[in-house]
Amino acid sequence: MASKKRVALVGGGGGFIGGHLIAKLRDLGYDQIRSVDIKPLDEWYQVHDDVENIQADLKLKEACMDAVSGVTEVYNLAADMGGMGFIENNRALCMLSVLINTHLLEAAKEIGGVDKFFYASSACVYNADKQKCEDVVPLKEEDAYPAMPEDGYGWEKLFSERMCRHFREDFGLTTRVARFHNVYGPYGTWDGGREKAPAAVCRKVITAKESGKHEIEIWGDGKQTRSFMYIDDCVEGILKITNSNILEPINLGSDEVVTINGLVDIVEEIAGIKLKRNYNLSAPKGVNGRNSDNTKILDYLGWEPGISLREGMAKTYDWIYGEYSKTHGLAVAR
Ligand code: NAD
Repeated sequence: MASKKRVALVGGGGGFIGGHLIAKLRDLGYDQIRSVDIKPLDEWYQVHDDVENIQADLKLKEACMDAVSGVTEVYNLAADMGGMGFIENNRALCMLSVLINTHLLEAAKEIGGVDKFFYASSACVYNADKQKCEDVVPLKEEDAYPAMPEDGYGWEKLFSERMCRHFREDFGLTTRVARFHNVYGPYGTWDGGREKAPAAVCRKVITAKESGKHEIEIWGDGKQTRSFMYIDDCVEGILKITNSNILEPINLGSDEVVTINGLVDIVEEIAGIKLKRNYNLSAPKGVNGRNSDNTKILDYLGWEPGISLREGMAKTYDWIYGEYSKTHGLAVAR
């Protein structure tokens, strides 16, 4: 008997994680891949010529109906988002992403044939009160309730997670949800205001090195802790979770904790430079301490993200150095 065709839709395929996921699905030999993003094609981080690349606004129901037509798997990675600076100042825009997931779920239900529906949630769903102390708090899945997520962005994620659950329970759609904790790597945002800490630190260190002004601005006091997951672990986790029978939203993050100061130490070491640190205490700095509790993912999958920050940051630094060099007309050797 011929095996069933695997046809994937990646919403947000022009974005950072979507672009990497498509690369992996191609390697896995999917029969057809459809990538949809609101950005014009020349702004996509990766364009894979052998997949169906479509520019459309997935907030619109009709666009979702077209996008889902004929697919067996939906990966919703589309959202209007960015780092702390963006999400703290664009709450309404972040919340409007609710239309994307809502219309994709409706389209999947109405059209039928979708075997798996993956939704990308975030550690920003966790109750802010559980992240206030100075110590690192490993967040367990149950810490999302009682609900008090990051305002705007986190509320949208929590609501959309819930919607996935109810489409599964009420309409039998196979939905899976992962809560990503800070993903980083090449082919992502590194400039312009939407970038996150790992990319921002690489860019600032490169700029300081190249300009000869050996200083760096750090948002907050640098003591806030985070964990960062390298993109390859993220993609592997998405596929493992999508193909598992994990029904509830689950953490997908590294549990290697680092302070922002520690992250700067790593990048300085990669760049071979030491910079004077200026702390901007009025900049958005997010929560004090946060980490992924990986008990559940280990229980279910016997696997957790394992690529070290040092290894991932070296690859990220090299890529950002290349991009910086292109935009600043430098020779590409570091
Ligand atoms: P990204 O911004 O690089 O990618 C998101 C893509 O969605 C962008 O290319 C954007 O143009 C597209 N998009 C936005 N609105 C759209 C619309 N209306 N229709 C079609 N496309 C639209 O971000 P990313 O880092 O790749 O994140 C992917 C997903 O993972 C998002 O849902 C994000 O909230 C979630 N997430 C990411 C991180 C992280 O650290 N990168 C952490 C937690 C959660």
